[in-house]
Amino acid sequence: MTDTSWPLKRILEPVRRYWGFDRLRPMQEEAIRAGLERRDSVVVMPTGGGKSLCYQVPAVLAERTDVVVSPLIALMKDQVDGLRACGVHAVALHSAMPPEARAQVESEIATGNCRLVFLAPERLMTGRCLEMLDRIGVRAFAIDEAHCISHWGHDFRTEYRKLALLKQRFPQASIHAFTATATERVREDIVTQLGLRDARILVGSFDRPNLVYRVIPRVDGFQQVADVVRRHERQAVIVYCLSRKDTEAMAASLRAGGAQARHYHAGMEPDERRQTQDAFAQEKLDVIVATVAFGMGIDRSDVRAVIHATMPKSVEHYQQETGRAGRDGLEAECVLFYSGADVMRWQSLFERSAAQAGLAPETTQPQLALLHEMQRFSGVPACRHRALVEYFGQTYEQENCGACDVCLDEVEGYADATETAQKILSCVARVDQRFGAGHVGDVLLGSNTERVLKFRHHELSTHGLLKGTAKKALTNMIYQLIDQRLLERSDGEYPVLKLNAASLEVMRGQRTVRLMQPKSAPLKKTRFDEESWEGVDRELFESLRTLRREIAKERGVPAYVIFNDATLRDMARVRPTSKESFLAVRGVGEKKLADLGAVFGTRIVEYCREHKLACDDSESKPRATPAAAK
Ligand code: ADP
Ligand code: ZN
Repeated sequence: MTDTSWPLKRILEPVRRYWGFDRLRPMQEEAIRAGLERRDSVVVMPTGGGKSLCYQVPAVLAERTDVVVSPLIALMKDQVDGLRACGVHAVALHSAMPPEARAQVESEIATGNCRLVFLAPERLMTGRCLEMLDRIGVRAFAIDEAHCISHWGHDFRTEYRKLALLKQRFPQASIHAFTATATERVREDIVTQLGLRDARILVGSFDRPNLVYRVIPRVDGFQQVADVVRRHERQAVIVYCLSRKDTEAMAASLRAGGAQARHYHAGMEPDERRQTQDAFAQEKLDVIVATVAFGMGIDRSDVRAVIHATMPKSVEHYQQETGRAGRDGLEAECVLFYSGADVMRWQSLFERSAAQAGLAPETTQPQLALLHEMQRFSGVPACRHRALVEYFGQTYEQENCGACDVCLDEVEGYADATETAQKILSCVARVDQRFGAGHVGDVLLGSNTERVLKFRHHELSTHGLLKGTAKKALTNMIYQLIDQRLLERSDGEYPVLKLNAASLEVMRGQRTVRLMQPKSAPLKKTRFDEESWEGVDRELFESLRTLRREIAKERGVPAYVIFNDATLRDMARVRPTSKESFLAVRGVGEKKLADLGAVFGTRIVEYCREHKLACDDSESKPRATPAAAK
């Protein structure tokens, strides 16, 4: 079939009716067409870019039963709930289902009325499942998180490898791979592994204009994370930590500060994990503190902040994890608290896990290469939007993004950085380059610790040279010098600080040094932040959020399945009560209007009466956020 058989108008019709969106985002149209024409495709879009719609619309429009391969059961369930709430018939089949439920779903599939069948890869490749798909004559497969098939990706999963057989088993069906990982190598690997034929490769823009990126020197992690969380009272926040123990300590510290926070990691009992995840999805919990294991199983679209308490181990991870913020297209911030110490911690973790697996230390090379890219991203004060987009091989047009710490001019240098650096370096020299950062710090601060006294370092001229500096700030400065290669740190179990040629240049005053610190001034609002709140009655918005939470609880579904924040903000702007003005709100389709229009309408009428406001404000047209408008 050619493009002309699916004019844009026809594609938009179900998009409006079921999803309540009146336009498609960049790349969505092409990806949907590939699905309709059943031409193999690889669709690369950042997290939050809107991949799901690309495989959902063709099945609905062509009235097919398409299969979606998805790695996580929790995510599948949410997708099915979400689709049903929009009036699209979808089911999921996975191993955690009791036999009766499975039989029920299988008979639903046999009717041919299901539009989407979500399957875990290991289930799909079973004889029983393959036969069932033969019987219904499946015409198209969508593979979500397709990078999991590639060794070159950051999330390889063995069960995905079996998908290589799909093309042989169903030569008549098209395969559509979706991923947020953009490296050329992974993309090629997906094509090869899946045996795609003449695939359309569609790569969307990697920029997420609604996200503000901040990379801040970490001087007091607990305090700094708590400050960001406080900026987002009663909003969804994800904090990423490096280890399980870290997540527990961080969650406890945030709770002590009055925040509603819980930890989440792979070492927890499945029940406890599910409870935490459900509480977060149902908006009973605001802050989740997690290791990398968390994320793929959560689909809450109104996450307003993603905080990295430590540096992630690759830019890919950073992009994926920060991608969880602002998936509804509204403003959100991503804050990374960075210290060079993180790099050392990852390095020793890589080495340890290689040793445990009986592998040679060189096998950590690829991991180290990714780690150093991440270190460069964190350590170089250049526009973060640009750096990310360029890392993924695209060009960035804007000079000033207006949405990162660098462009917003939030990074601040220490006034006397060169002098401070000289003091640190000369102290390293005085202790004969035989001590680590902790001890050097103690000497500079003038502490009389046991070790300082034992080595008679209280008699050194550098003892107390930086007295009065906060210990954590000083440690951070030492790591900044290491990051900038102005100071070396030896490998091994007891690393010591060593000078190099650059250190000597600094000490001789032949080189100036820049050391950064968190700026104490209050943060400016970004243009995006202001625009997305324009005309919104905040009190009404909060009241609609409460209503949403109540309904979600009653129905036992995640709150965003009801409406997402972008939709509620539009409602709090337009105050719709008529059918027409409700349908004009982004995210309200016919099914949801019939289902929820009355109860939300009543709340809006009551609110307007109480506050003497007009309803159906046609002046305040629903606003497309920049992410959606382009
Ligand atoms: P991805 O799978 O790429 O991470 P999703 O498919 O979950 O992203 O979409 C992210 C968000 O964007 C969802 O809340 C979805 O409802 C919304 N969205 C997708 N397409 C559109 C569109 N054309 N207009 C408005 N919102 C959209
Ligand atoms: Zn910028």
